[in-house]
Amino acid sequence: MQHDIETLWQQDKDHFVHPFTDFSDFHQSGCDIIAHSEGAYIYDIKENKYLDGIAGLWCVNIGHGRAELGQVMAEQATKMAYYSPFNNLSNIPAIQLSAKLASLAPDNLNHVFYSCGGSVANDQAIRIVHYYFNQIGKASKKKIISRHSGYHGTTYMASTLTGTVGNNEGFDVVNNLVTHISEANCYRMPEGMNEAEYCDYLVKDFETNLAEMGGADQVAAFIAEPIMGAGGVLVAPDGYHKRIFDLCKANDILYISDEVVTAFGRLGHFFASEAVFGIKPDIIICAKGLTSGYIPLGATLLSDEIYDVIKKPQAKGAVFSTGFTYSGHPVACAVALKNIEIMEREKICENVLAVGPYLEEQLRTLKDLPIVGDVRGSHFMMCIESVANKETKELIPYEANVGKRIAQHCQQRGLIVRPIAHLNVLSPPLIWTRDTVDEVVSILRSAILSTIEDLKTDKYL
Ligand code: PLP
Repeated sequence: MQHDIETLWQQDKDHFVHPFTDFSDFHQSGCDIIAHSEGAYIYDIKENKYLDGIAGLWCVNIGHGRAELGQVMAEQATKMAYYSPFNNLSNIPAIQLSAKLASLAPDNLNHVFYSCGGSVANDQAIRIVHYYFNQIGKASKKKIISRHSGYHGTTYMASTLTGTVGNNEGFDVVNNLVTHISEANCYRMPEGMNEAEYCDYLVKDFETNLAEMGGADQVAAFIAEPIMGAGGVLVAPDGYHKRIFDLCKANDILYISDEVVTAFGRLGHFFASEAVFGIKPDIIICAKGLTSGYIPLGATLLSDEIYDVIKKPQAKGAVFSTGFTYSGHPVACAVALKNIEIMEREKICENVLAVGPYLEEQLRTLKDLPIVGDVRGSHFMMCIESVANKETKELIPYEANVGKRIAQHCQQRGLIVRPIAHLNVLSPPLIWTRDTVDEVVSILRSAILSTIEDLKTDKYL
């Protein structure tokens, strides 16, 4: 079907309120309209072809254009598109998916509460945590510890948890509920520390904040991404998560692992918390890769201990009064089941474990370029940090938009990477091969070199 591109652009500007968009820029230049996609590639409305370096938005894990997922959607929608999950009603895909997730998650996590995305899944986690402590007579435990640079979404509650710079500019948050402690940023750790000392410093920071918040009697939960995503792909020092987890256990604080990005293969495992970081959280959050982004679905995985409490009615006949029309939507759950089946059949996690270290190693070769200060991440979750001075780590002025310039040069060469201020993030579909990696690194090198020339021309370097 032929589209009138000018009309689409105009309608887009006039009617579609885009999330996370600079409206001043958007109203001038408009958007790239992505029209179709296949495998590792996307195509815009003018039929320009790009390698998708960000899997949509950390989510199209098994790659684009999977007919099997389209078929399963059509079959489930035709057989039984929707029926209520409330009041002792259920549906087959939601039941089967819950059992499957329980089998994939750490062995203490056997209960699944569904929503339509990561923000709401986090929001529900906090609501359930508060309910849990109310039920066991510890109602003073309300406060939550989160981290600066952590990203947990943008519902009212999730944005209160979120600690990324500028995220809540001009918006309100829930007052006095969340304390943000230091993020773990090994590239910018305090002068003179080694990684082990930095880990001690971060653990101390947790303990100090816990005391200032009123101690274990006041604090209900800690929430963290195993590797921070939108905050700049920050990998914590070795042992950090385990030490914070142990502190949480010692203080009766529930540990929420926000695996919206890291689950479903990005680090080579269905869930990273235990497999990579050696912890069994009380709650795991997932979304995105759960359906490879083919349909919205979020899940809050709960431990047996939490479920044993919340399953008891508050009073005779009282219901567990939280949930959504679309909790456990049959079409979304059917897609998730098929997505997991494909991941297992095609050994997608194994591909990440094999190609991921090569992606890390090859991206690190870019560190010889004069503005590449850091290349960090793990497996299919990587980031390049640009700086003006590699010795001092001084940043290139914000208004130079270095991340965006690099992204634009990549796009001109057929690769989509995500700019976040002075960072460029790579979170590709998990089907990349070593050949794809070689192509990507060669494009990035040329794009960064062109960016350096531009920055010099514009007197930013
Ligand atoms: N948690 C993490 C770690 C995320 O990266 C995101 C989104 O990027 C969210 C939560 C929010 O998920 P959603 O955008 O599906 O609400």
